[in-house]
Amino acid sequence: MSSSGRGRLAGKNAVITGAAGGIGLETSILFAKEGANVLMADISQEALDRALAKVKQLVPGAGRVEAKVCDVSKEADVQAAVEHLDAWGGLDVIFNNAGIMHAQDADALDTPEAIWDLTHNINVKGVWYGCKHAVLALRRHGKAKGSIINTASVVALVGSATPQLAYTASKGAVLALTRELAIVHAREGFRFNSLCPAPLNTPLLQDWLGDDQAKRFRREVHFPTGRFGEAVEQAHAVVFLASDESSFVNGADFVVDGGMSKAYVTPEGPAAPAPV
Ligand code: NAD
Repeated sequence: MSSSGRGRLAGKNAVITGAAGGIGLETSILFAKEGANVLMADISQEALDRALAKVKQLVPGAGRVEAKVCDVSKEADVQAAVEHLDAWGGLDVIFNNAGIMHAQDADALDTPEAIWDLTHNINVKGVWYGCKHAVLALRRHGKAKGSIINTASVVALVGSATPQLAYTASKGAVLALTRELAIVHAREGFRFNSLCPAPLNTPLLQDWLGDDQAKRFRREVHFPTGRFGEAVEQAHAVVFLASDESSFVNGADFVVDGGMSKAYVTPEGPAAPAPV
């Protein structure tokens, strides 16, 4: 692994959204270590300033690493972030990762319409804008290949007992739109894949769990591994999907969940294997 000049992502120009925290920040660090030039995009200027300083501190020999405020629910912001890379030689990779979740204690049927709209504007339209402007940039620069990675969630695959209907539906939409774009653009050399994380230790999850340790334990025990994942474990998968190592991976629901979506579990933990 190295910074500029060498590395699995050497020479690639990347936009990462939601880059100021959680998965986006860990991915920015790994991308910089692997030689990519990175534009960290996020809605929060203050958080971006901290995140950019962290990347520069951890990867002193990094190539270009810059930050830009971007609300992914606004097409003009996403377009400006992508076009920022025109001066670098054009975008090669976009990680459409920014997302929000509002879990609620009320019945799923009572999901407020305002929450539905906000969630879909960020989680779905934000991803769509990123895909659209990435393809336009790849074409503008005559690129023969490009990698677009969109963050979905395992809840799009298995559903959730926690009422978070707007979120679950939005992540299902991410899987569907990613698959379709993967097919449509495959012959241009542009790959589209979804990342499907299970609950992991990031501010998004902490905001939801709060200080409720019992709630945390009830959730963790449903993992075959008995623990939540870490953001950096997602970031390693994103490096693979962004790199040429994954050149034949297209349209995948790339699941990084410690086996959670495959397991039948009881509240006491994973069930014992049935006798054969
Ligand atoms: P996080 O809250 O730690 O980070 C999300 C980042 O997105 C924040 O820096 C936030 O400022 C930014 N953001 C929010 N709204 C934005 C907007 N409109 N425009 C641009 N940036 C915006 O969350 P995370 O856990 O790193 O989540 C990243 C992605 O992973 C999300 O799409 C989330 O749905 C998904 N995910 C998370 C988990 C989990 O348990 N943490 C599980 C599955 C999927």
